[in-house]
Amino acid sequence: MKETLHIYTRVSTTIQEEDGTSLDTQRDLGEQRSQKLGMKCQVWNEGSQSSSKDDLSNRPVLTQLLQEVQDGNVKHVYVWNTDRLSRNIQTWGLIRLILIKNEVHLHTPTGELILSDPQTNLMLGIMSEFSQYDNLLRTERFRLGKLQRIRDGGWKGGPPPFGYRLDEGELVVEPKESVWVVKIHEWYRDGLTPDEIKTHLMENGVMTRRGNPVWSLGSITSLLSNTHYDGYWMFEDGKSGEVIRVSCPRICPPELILGVKNSKEKRTYKKGNKREKTSVSKHPYLVSKLMKCGNCGLFYYGNIKKTQTSYYHCGSKTNKYRDKGTDKYTECGTNRNLRLDTTEKVVWEEVKSVIGSSHLFKETIKREVLGEERVFTETKKDTDLTKKQIERLEREVEKITTSIVNLTTENILSESRDLKGVVKKLEDKRLETEVRIKELTSKLSEKEDENRWIDWLKEYKDRLDKLDDLTPKERQDFVRGVVSEIVVHELDNQRHKLEINFLFPYVGDRLEYKDETNKSLGYEIKGGRNRKNKTLNLLKKFTS
Ligand SMILES: [Zn+2]
Repeated sequence: MKETLHIYTRVSTTIQEEDGTSLDTQRDLGEQRSQKLGMKCQVWNEGSQSSSKDDLSNRPVLTQLLQEVQDGNVKHVYVWNTDRLSRNIQTWGLIRLILIKNEVHLHTPTGELILSDPQTNLMLGIMSEFSQYDNLLRTERFRLGKLQRIRDGGWKGGPPPFGYRLDEGELVVEPKESVWVVKIHEWYRDGLTPDEIKTHLMENGVMTRRGNPVWSLGSITSLLSNTHYDGYWMFEDGKSGEVIRVSCPRICPPELILGVKNSKEKRTYKKGNKREKTSVSKHPYLVSKLMKCGNCGLFYYGNIKKTQTSYYHCGSKTNKYRDKGTDKYTECGTNRNLRLDTTEKVVWEEVKSVIGSSHLFKETIKREVLGEERVFTETKKDTDLTKKQIERLEREVEKITTSIVNLTTENILSESRDLKGVVKKLEDKRLETEVRIKELTSKLSEKEDENRWIDWLKEYKDRLDKLDDLTPKERQDFVRGVVSEIVVHELDNQRHKLEINFLFPYVGDRLEYKDETNKSLGYEIKGGRNRKNKTLNLLKKFTS
């Protein structure tokens, strides 16, 4: 009985068909081989299979052939190249084991491979390693190719975000959707909740990408945090961790993105405030990080008690137990804690009195505020004007947008009417207006930066007369603005000396005119000191 040569053919989809490896060629060569061997032949054609998942589950024909081998019906197998059987080491090992066990002769165009021969085994092993390596290389090349395409502005794959469509692998603006992208941002900026935005979208018949007229709150929230509308997106390569910033057409103007950002911050801030109210209110300690122990040099810490008297205590006491036996351990001889209310009151009164009567301080304020008054009022007038202008332009954009939306809707309803030209003109006008708004807004923010400190100083001067109206936090800022440090000396069991060191010689300065008889010749400020001492009992309740 004539033996049969079982010809197994397969091509891989990911490899371009190399010369001489097409299914037909593989079969023809196999048939030639069978004639040479004087055998009948039977073709087992796997066809075209992906090599990415290279195991038997993906090779139904090969599995069938191996079954025949195990059943003892196949003694001669022909493959064009051993990698037709498998490029995967484990799979190839399994196949080889089955072939060897069943004493199958494996034929290739170059002759028979004796599978059990150690040298052939080694060679086959190496060849298989090479195909494995080849596969890895191909995967890597594919990954690098994709990264390069992304770097060149290509889309990463998958559906494009709402507001865009794909054109030759790149994101381009989808006008019908982008109108709504802008709208959603504007609504959010103007204080609408995602739920209200959802209602608006529904009322306007805006469909999601999947054709759903009901938007989920999650999709609205995630749309609002999409960076694409700001003209870029980030891609992180899972393997290398490399992050690529890719530019794409901007849908929302920068000032709108900024508006949304501010609105978001405001909302989280509000939430944060609520949270803070329920927790223990944070007391701004008037002299924390300012008041030091004259004995050991550590800062004093405040400790607010709800039911007991609150104290400031030397830092050595806080860390006493934690640091004991370490280098950080500080031995301090102070015995008494300072009453918090008394200490803060005394410091505040002293600072107020020194600053309130300091010519130097007044002079500083005068130079900084009054000297700039002209500039200030001018820029103020200017910014007010710009703000009005922006508001007017924004209303215009709003109107244009509404018209566009209405016209677009009409257009959908009556396809016969060609309103495209009108809409196009309106879009141009809107863009033009938005660019103008953008210019004005950036001009305005520059101006506002410029004005901020002038504003602050002006307000500050007004408040100098009403210092006691300041909130605890403002008092803390004020003290920090003029005092460099406060040193506490424990004199005895009763009395402490507070040494208040000011940043500038505000203490006891005086104003001397160059000529008392002719004040217009100017004056000088003289004789100030930086330090003010105050000795008192800080253990008692303060009475002035
Ligand atoms: Zn101390």
